[in-house]
Amino acid sequence: MPRKGIFTEKIVEDVARIASEMIEPKDYTTPILAKHTIEAVRNVGVYLRPERLDAIYCELCGKGPFTRKGYYLHLIRVHSSEIQSLVEEEAERILKQLK
Ligand SMILES: [Zn+2]
Repeated sequence: MPRKGIFTEKIVEDVARIASEMIEPKDYTTPILAKHTIEAVRNVGVYLRPERLDAIYCELCGKGPFTRKGYYLHLIRVHSSEIQSLVEEEAERILKQLK
């Protein structure tokens, strides 16, 4: 399913951009995702932000230290499927609250 692939890839990249502080969560939006999915991307991105920017260690596996760019690439290359699951769970949680 190529369509799902494109969305999944975008979601993982956007989470990694927020996590590596390339973009602020409040500035993040996109016309191609539903509102609750955007909120889930923001929340997971913030959850994956490192405690310290001068020494970035991965919030999922503890590897590091990384530069911001290195952390971004690490998240996309190593944790793509985990990030997908986290966003799906978070999106479901948000949807349940809306009901
Ligand atoms: Zn990691």
